Amino acid sequence: MEKKVFDYIIIGAGCAGLSLAYRMSKNKFFESKSILLIEPDEKNKNDRTWSYWSKEEKFYNEWAIKTWNELLFKSPKKETVLEIKPYKFRTIRGIDFYNSTLPQISSASQITQLKTKVAELNHGENFVTLSLENGETVHGAYVFDSRLDSNYNFEDSNFVWQHFKGWVVESEEDYFDDSKAMFMDFSIDQSKDTRFFYVLPYSKKRALIQIAIFSNEIVSSKDYDVLIKNYIDQDHPTLKYSILEEEYDKIPMTDFAFPISEGSGHMFIGSASGMVKASSGFAFKRMQDQSDDIIQFLISGKDPTRATQKIARKKYRILDGTFLNVILTNRLTGQEVFTKLLERNKAKNIFDFLSQKSSLIQEIKIMLSLPTLPFLKSFIKVLTK
Ligand SMILES: Cc1cc2nc3c(=O)[nH]c(=O)nc-3n(C[C@H](O)[C@H](O)[C@H](O)COP(=O)(O)OP(=O)(O)OC[C@H]3O[C@@H](n4cnc5c(N)ncnc54)[C@H](O)[C@@H]3O)c2cc1C
Repeated sequence: MEKKVFDYIIIGAGCAGLSLAYRMSKNKFFESKSILLIEPDEKNKNDRTWSYWSKEEKFYNEWAIKTWNELLFKSPKKETVLEIKPYKFRTIRGIDFYNSTLPQISSASQITQLKTKVAELNHGENFVTLSLENGETVHGAYVFDSRLDSNYNFEDSNFVWQHFKGWVVESEEDYFDDSKAMFMDFSIDQSKDTRFFYVLPYSKKRALIQIAIFSNEIVSSKDYDVLIKNYIDQDHPTLKYSILEEEYDKIPMTDFAFPISEGSGHMFIGSASGMVKASSGFAFKRMQDQSDDIIQFLISGKDPTRATQKIARKKYRILDGTFLNVILTNRLTGQEVFTKLLERNKAKNIFDFLSQKSSLIQEIKIMLSLPTLPFLKSFIKVLTK
């Protein structure tokens, strides 16, 4: 039997796998390479929406359903307009992302797609060997793996689930001011955890109204519906709406040190490589940056795991861990921390900081805006763990 050997194998066609395969399909360097993309699902449903801030002009910005130049933040006391310039805030619907990437990937002759699951992965001397659920065995000189290992032990880490439910609603008449998105509405009852709404108006008639909760007690979908309905009744009493779509899921927020690789010729990408920012749950833009860097490192003959090392830097893991620890130990509530962060700082500084692009001066300003003692205690806890 002919041995199936590929230059690159990508496991999983989620955000990370598709981002990488798409770039490989568009870049001349990869025209002479053989690439295999393995994914069991069809990717034909709007299973999630990604929001992100960025200041660069990138191809994927064009896939956004909406771009905002201004955001709002609401605490129990007031509503603040966040001037985010030079950043823009965007939302991409999962289905638009799949429909933009998959046809291009399918049209690239160097890319083979297999609709199956990887059952086993073994590191050999020259290749990584994958046994697939369809019975095939394939070999890759380099494997990019986006499977999140469910056996990771997060117990020694600061860990909390960010779980959420949202409705895409359509109003009968023009209702929403779509020039601004509500980034975080912390004016709601916190019920002893950290919870906020966000409202993303895609148009004057349509918006995603979503609640996110940081806690390890997952709220049932039905209970979430009650929270969303009550929020709309209270904050938008005149809105007459129908529900078009729903989103209900969870993301792990943790300072766990995700392994970069399990052996040579193999690296994790996306969530599996710790691309979900522990302090916010934002991941989409980080995965795009990781993907851009992987392509550049491959073209210049360098180790592509450097792409992850650039983002998953220890300094930021410690800072994110400190933030999580402050909230998880109840030294401060999430509501207090986010309110102080966003009411006392320029939004641009916060976005620079969360994008890991802040200067020392910006970082000092942000630290001075927060209560020192609780953060110091958590910082020491994280450092000495
Ligand atoms: C509902 C939701 C909303 C989110 N919203 C935002 C947001 O607004 N902004 C933001 O920045 N981040 C957001 N995130 C976080 C993050 O961006 C997403 O989780 C992102 O989709 C993760 O991409 P990924 O490629 O790492 O993982 P996934 O998208 O989960 O992709 C992994 C893929 O691997 C496949 N797979 C699994 N096992 C195997 C196997 N054995 N063999 C082959 N394939 C396999 C799966 O089918 C899947 O397609 C959100 C997450 C969720 C769940």
